[in-house]
Amino acid sequence: MSYKNFTLETDADGIALVTWDMPEKSMNVFTEEVMSELDAIVDAIVADDGIKGAVVTSGKSTFSGGADLTMLKSMFERIHEEKANNPEGAAKILFEQVGRMTGLFRKLETCGKPWVSAINGVCMGGAFELSLSCHGRVVADSKSVKMGLPEVKVGIFPGAGGTQRVPRLTNQQDALVMMTTGQNLSPKKAKSLGLVTEVVEPDKLIGSAKQMIKDGLKPVQPWDEKGFKLPGGQVWSPQGAQLWPAVSANLRKQSYGNYPSAYAIIKCVFEGLQVPFDTGLRIEQRYFTEILQTPEAYAMVRSLFVSLQDLNKGARRPTGVEKTKFTKVGVVGAGFMGAGIAYSTAKAGIPVVLIDRDQDAADKGKAHSEDLVAQAVKKNRMTQEQADKLLSLITPTADYGALDGAELVIEAVFEDRGIKKTVTESAEAVLAPGSVFASNTSTLPITGLAENSKSPEDFIGIHFFSPVDRMMLVEIIMGEQTGDNALAVALDYVQAINKTPIVVNDTRGFYVNRCVMRYMTEAYNMIDEGIPAVMIENIAKMAGMPVGPLALNDEVAIDLSQKVNRATIADLGEDAVDPRHVKLIDTMVDDHGRLGRKNGKGFYDYPAKPTKKHLWPGLKDLYPQLDPDQVSVSEVKNRFLTTVALEAARTMEEGIVTDPREADVGSILGFGFAPYTGGALSYIDGMGAKAFVEMCDGLAQKHGAHFKPTPLLKEMAANGESFYSRFGEGAGLGQAA
Ligand code: NAD
Repeated sequence: MSYKNFTLETDADGIALVTWDMPEKSMNVFTEEVMSELDAIVDAIVADDGIKGAVVTSGKSTFSGGADLTMLKSMFERIHEEKANNPEGAAKILFEQVGRMTGLFRKLETCGKPWVSAINGVCMGGAFELSLSCHGRVVADSKSVKMGLPEVKVGIFPGAGGTQRVPRLTNQQDALVMMTTGQNLSPKKAKSLGLVTEVVEPDKLIGSAKQMIKDGLKPVQPWDEKGFKLPGGQVWSPQGAQLWPAVSANLRKQSYGNYPSAYAIIKCVFEGLQVPFDTGLRIEQRYFTEILQTPEAYAMVRSLFVSLQDLNKGARRPTGVEKTKFTKVGVVGAGFMGAGIAYSTAKAGIPVVLIDRDQDAADKGKAHSEDLVAQAVKKNRMTQEQADKLLSLITPTADYGALDGAELVIEAVFEDRGIKKTVTESAEAVLAPGSVFASNTSTLPITGLAENSKSPEDFIGIHFFSPVDRMMLVEIIMGEQTGDNALAVALDYVQAINKTPIVVNDTRGFYVNRCVMRYMTEAYNMIDEGIPAVMIENIAKMAGMPVGPLALNDEVAIDLSQKVNRATIADLGEDAVDPRHVKLIDTMVDDHGRLGRKNGKGFYDYPAKPTKKHLWPGLKDLYPQLDPDQVSVSEVKNRFLTTVALEAARTMEEGIVTDPREADVGSILGFGFAPYTGGALSYIDGMGAKAFVEMCDGLAQKHGAHFKPTPLLKEMAANGESFYSRFGEGAGLGQAA
């Protein structure tokens, strides 16, 4: 029999090699079809007396990314519809559907013949669960091999036996950490945890896997043997008594109870280990059914998997422009940002010319890459050879002539219109027609800067976030005259350097900074009202933000906030900035010299290590603080999420952002907007426009006009619309300019 996604070859020793290699896919994923074929393969292997056992591997450079979550998203939608008419029936259908993979893997491990998984590359989620159901697991010893159960990162959990097999193979604490954080495991780490059997040289992978079967690998899992004992002892043992009381508390400390799927993992492990394996699987299946019906799972799968993947694949790329293969990228300005951009570009294998005012300054910019690769080599994340290759791709110089032949030049010089004009002209004097010139400006409108260009249609904003090497988001800003070629080149570049683009139209602060500003200014309001700074910071984190607004302001620098206030007032008038904000920031900077982390004095004090940073006690002398019992925690949470979500809604209303996927993904990747909500617009859609408008009205009455719902939101509330129903996914296609 032949299969579409697998090949099956049996050797002279009677060992079947099952190679998973999906046509027209760069990575193997579990689909309905893959499951059906694997099911049939198990049957075929059992039925063939000539086959002693099977090795399952991948025909691609990676093993598999796990389940196709796009399939899950449509399942959510089907169930949602079904639920409206028949809630119980819908849950039953879901329960049966989610048991499909569990049943398949259980069938494989109890089929009576030994199975070995030969893991040749990245092996995630459902694929790792498949491997765990095999009786042996051999892994290629290579840096490119990573294994893990990352489901929690998209709001779900390992629901195909993962929560039952992992803690039966390793100790419960490591099992819980691995699954509740979605940790990646190297081959060595997986071996030390007992999750894989052997780590071998890549070229010996299949041979070793087959050898295991030849050596008489038992086709029975430890948990199916009589007298099986858990490696970490029972949950009620003395070891268990030390671990379990702290588990929920620790999780709460890390995630503030915002992620139901992480709690479900804990319950699956705790309850599942006290019963026979098959009952444990059933417990897991029930919790998985429950989790799939949570708004968190739907929102996170949609934004953090489906939309993210769509944007990474170029959902916003104009068709009809040939894809650019970069042979040279220029970066002008080798300072903080330029040095980072040069590093990220060279890391993707693209030659970079890094220009500054003189050779010394350009060399300094390259030194940033030298530091980063030295650290990566030290931490074993890069080989010396890779490090040398990366550095060889960066040419620091003061000579604009070196830009000749570049497909794209990105300027990251001082935030000064005059300097940016000179640099644009110098670069364009060398560039061939059709090459694209981009600015990394954070505040200057692209349309205005494009006036310095001889071809404004090829002028665009490519806005990175700091630190460039770690921030995955890049905002692409369309000036009024920016054309399709520039957009396509910018998107091809962002894809080439493995970051995620969102495309936005020109406005002060673009998208991300506009939203972030709201987060910080709401904290200023709260300080002014006397809400204790420690509550501001902690409640923001309880709401799901990764960093408190005051800590964030220290990172971006308080004097930068002062500059932004002043520039806004100069351009738009006194009323454009709340006088309370001006007073707070001016007092911090001018009266107390508190500039942020950079001078060790901001909203926090930064004592020498190992003492941790702590909030500056002087703030309460400037702003007397309320009794904490007078502060409503839930209201503070709502204020933070609402003010940011409202700003995101305004950008949609103004046509700055045109596709809700970009607003959502941009808010999570750009500033960590409470990921469990699915992003700033999904937060509104999740509760419904009507409830959101009511909440805004209430907050506006109490805390000011900046909470007033916008006309668009009111209209959506009246019509029962959501952002996704009104604007649709891909709404911005072809209308970015
Ligand atoms: P920076 O001061 O660290 O670096 C600017 C570099 O430009 C310096 O090395 C300087 O020598 C060089 N330079 C100045 N004039 C030049 C000229 N005529 N020719 C060549 N090089 C010249 O500044 P930065 O923080 O890297 O910011 C650079 C740009 O990136 C600004 O437009 C800023 O708004 C934007 N930006 C900054 C951040 C951030 O977090 N710092 C984030 C996003 C965007």
